[in-house]
Amino acid sequence: MASLAEVLARETREGELYERLADGRLRCYACGHCCPLPTGAIGVCKVRFNEGGTLRVPWGYVGGVQCDPIEKKPFFHAHPGALAYSFGMLGCDLHCSYCQNWVTSQALRDPAAVAPPLEASPEALVRDALRLKARVLVSTYNEPLITSEWAVAVFKEAKAAGLSTAYVSNGNGTPEVLEYLRPWVDFYKVDLKSFDDRHYRQLGGRIEPILDTIRRLFAMGFWVEIVTLLIPGFNDSPEELTRLTEFLAGVSPDIPWHVTAFHADYKMTDPPNTTADMLLGAAEIGRRAGLRYIYAGNLPGQVGDLEDTRCVKCGETLIERYGYMIRSYRITPNGCCPGCGTNVPGRWSNRFEGQIASRPFLPGSRHLLNVLRR
Ligand code: SF4
Repeated sequence: MASLAEVLARETREGELYERLADGRLRCYACGHCCPLPTGAIGVCKVRFNEGGTLRVPWGYVGGVQCDPIEKKPFFHAHPGALAYSFGMLGCDLHCSYCQNWVTSQALRDPAAVAPPLEASPEALVRDALRLKARVLVSTYNEPLITSEWAVAVFKEAKAAGLSTAYVSNGNGTPEVLEYLRPWVDFYKVDLKSFDDRHYRQLGGRIEPILDTIRRLFAMGFWVEIVTLLIPGFNDSPEELTRLTEFLAGVSPDIPWHVTAFHADYKMTDPPNTTADMLLGAAEIGRRAGLRYIYAGNLPGQVGDLEDTRCVKCGETLIERYGYMIRSYRITPNGCCPGCGTNVPGRWSNRFEGQIASRPFLPGSRHLLNVLRR
């Protein structure tokens, strides 16, 4: 039986995000590692490789498909209540020891991560998303940057069908990949894991490409939301959180910042779980830094009004949430507070059409997706 790496090496085509260097190597630009690849070499992500002077990249499969409320991604200022049809491939350019998607992201590094790839086409994915009345198609679960050619193929089909599109990403991008994605990606969530380069190096990356990506995403007009998983003892010092939130507020005080609770996962089982008080303390730091839309996640009902969207001018509650569930929605069709008329930054639907699901579910369409032959 073929190994997972052998199966995935078969499911590839020539990539678009690379150049040939003068010394004969290839330079990949899909993520901030910018790997220089001699013939026969594979990138840090383990899914892109140089085969005889051509960069081969993943194509034609998914590692998983799931229907999520868009609030789970989380996007709170982009079509609240929408169903986000979510797909991932396999592999990642980082190796976070607390990854909550490790079965797909670490499939090529960790033999315990068994995620059988499923054959897929852009047309079948979009057809299924429309059948389920999804409004957004999302590349997530593994790191989407490293499989950007495939995501763009799916998103071209999605946009032709009138859907919005999104990336849920670690933000380890390059100027080249962001230019490539700009016509096809509407919403972009970055997981800003820390504000300390030493921490990023523990996870297999560097902080600078991530900060540069956040600045560029905002300047290029993507709708951006940021998430920080608050891990006690790792990234929760007031000093680090102050620098992190001051950086975000410097890019724009209107970027929503989600600070979410950690629970033990994968190989990180030592730190205690994040408490509601820790989230409230981090939110207060963000508020002092100037951020205007701060949300506390993963502890529904325990964080006061930090699940809700409020008008920054008059304080009126505009969207009331419990976990992923929308309890009330009062934003006007033109994206304003109904009380004082203040604009609320985001990408709003003309009207709130209710919520298809407030919890994830499988699409029940696996007949569309055959497990790839080993
Ligand atoms: S996606 Fe990133 S890790 Fe993978 S080959 Fe390209 S630059 Fe290297």
